Amino acid sequence: MAEIVLERVDKVYAGGVKAVDGLDLEIRDGEFMVLVGPSGCGKSTALRMIAGLEEISGGTISIGERVVNDLAPKDRDIAMVFQNYALYPHMTVEQNLAFGLKLRGVSKEERAKKVREAAKMLGLEQFLSRKPAALSGGQRQRVAMGRAIVREPQAFLMDEPLSNLDAKLRVSMRASLSQLHERLKVTTVYVTHDQVEAMTLGDRVCVLREGRLQQVDTPQRLFDNP
Ligand code: ADP
Ligand code: ADP
Repeated sequence: MAEIVLERVDKVYAGGVKAVDGLDLEIRDGEFMVLVGPSGCGKSTALRMIAGLEEISGGTISIGERVVNDLAPKDRDIAMVFQNYALYPHMTVEQNLAFGLKLRGVSKEERAKKVREAAKMLGLEQFLSRKPAALSGGQRQRVAMGRAIVREPQAFLMDEPLSNLDAKLRVSMRASLSQLHERLKVTTVYVTHDQVEAMTLGDRVCVLREGRLQQVDTPQRLFDNP
């Protein structure tokens, strides 16, 4: 777990679009922070800079005690969850969950234990031997989250992870995400354009507009002072 701090962070894309403009934001250890705002306001860009998937044009980002500006994504100790699940189609759910651990040389017993724990948390126990093609969208997204969980990262970075799901499933997955966060208390940065989702999930919500921070507060206070 770790605090994530953005100081005067800018992103100027080739062609001159200023996607993020002087963003200051402190995400506390264990906090669920939602970045919300209309399409094009810079949410994904901000998240991708935290992940190291996008270069920073100016300012500083730190995760835990470390400034990560020049660190590769793999050295940031974070796990991403995207809207497209990025599962390995030829592997079973169990293999999908265990694969990263296997690459890192985690023992078979330890892998089995972590996979079992994650599957239990996510209600995937009865699907472990299935391949992704035989799962529903919601189940696939749970597997994607499971892959992030077994890594035991300092932070989860999620970019519209529920936006491919139908409305009903989205609501139940929101509840699952909240429970998961209650349980794991891993620092989370969550991007969505859906205000209801933001207000439901966030410990705090950061509203962006044209690359700038407009408001950051608890859902309750944002609701009272829109
Ligand atoms: P959001 O996630 O809030 O929809 P983005 O971070 O994707 O916003 O985009 C912010 C701004 O940066 C938009 O104006 C978008 O068109 C622009 N942008 C995003 N990605 C690129 C890119 N790779 N090259 C140039 N401009 C980009
Ligand atoms: P896997 O991709 O199967 O999880 P690893 O955990 O060994 O396998 O990861 C391979 C590389 O991909 C590493 O550099 C790791 O940091 C990165 N990586 C894997 N999963 C994620 C994720 N969910 N979010 C961010 N980076 C990831």
